[in-house]
Amino acid sequence: MKLTVLGSSASSPTRTNTASGYLVEFEGKRILMDAGPGVFMKLAAIMDPGSLDAVVLSHTHVDHCTDVLALFSYMAYGPSGPIPIPVYAPEGARDHLAAFARAGKDHVFHQVLDFREQQPGDEVWIGPAHLRFGQAIHPVPALVTRFDVGSGALTYSGDTGPGGDLATLANDTSLLLSEASLQGVRDHKTFPHHLTAVDAGELAAWAGVRELVLTHIPAAMDPEVSIEQASSVFDGPVRYAAPGSTFEISTTR
Ligand SMILES: [Zn+2]
Ligand SMILES: [Zn+2]
Repeated sequence: MKLTVLGSSASSPTRTNTASGYLVEFEGKRILMDAGPGVFMKLAAIMDPGSLDAVVLSHTHVDHCTDVLALFSYMAYGPSGPIPIPVYAPEGARDHLAAFARAGKDHVFHQVLDFREQQPGDEVWIGPAHLRFGQAIHPVPALVTRFDVGSGALTYSGDTGPGGDLATLANDTSLLLSEASLQGVRDHKTFPHHLTAVDAGELAAWAGVRELVLTHIPAAMDPEVSIEQASSVFDGPVRYAAPGSTFEISTTR
C-alpha cells in the first residue's frame, strides 16, 4: 500500500502546500482521501482523476472537502459523460455538498457522486481493502479511517481532539497519519478539537503503531519542532507529511 501526500496544510492552502488530500494505492486501486482546496490539481498532475476508485472524506470542513466539487465537475462534464464514483463520508456530507453545488434531486451531481454515508463503527470493503470508520472528536460529524490490506494497515485521524476512536482504531497499525495541529502544552479549553504533537506521539505509543506521520501542521509552525515533540513520547520513527512525499506500507508478512 502506498500513501502519497497531495497536500497537508492545516486550515488553508498556502503557496507551497495545498490543504488536506492524500492518495492511497493498493493492488491497482486508487482512493482519494480528503480533498481540500488545491488537491484536485495535485492529483491531476500525477494521474487521471477519472480513474479513481473511490473518495473517502473525513469531514466537511472546507480544508478537507471543497475539491470534491472540482472532481464532480471533471467527472460530470468530461468527454465520456458522467462517471460515477463512490464517496464514503460522514453523515450529512451529501446534503452539505449538494447544497453548495445547487444540485436539486435530479441534478447530475447525484449521478456522479455516489455518497455512502458512514457512521462510527461501520465497515466497508474496497477491493482487498477493509475499511473501518471511527468517531473523531470534532465540531461537525467527522470520522477516523483505518485501511487494512493484507498485513498492512494505515490509520488516518482526520481532524480530531483527544478521545474518540482514534487510539483503538490505530491499534497495531503500520502507519498512523495523525493530525498535529498544535505544538507545546495542550490548551484543552481553547482547542478541544485538535491534537498537539505530543498527543499524537502518546497515542502512537499507546496504540503500538510502527510509524507515525504528522500532518495538518499550520504553515506558521516548523514541522521539525512537531517531530521533536512527538518523538519525546514515542520511540518509533516520526516523519512529516511533506507535500509530495510518499510512504510505503508493506502488506505482506
Ligand atoms: Zn482541518
Ligand atoms: Zn476540521
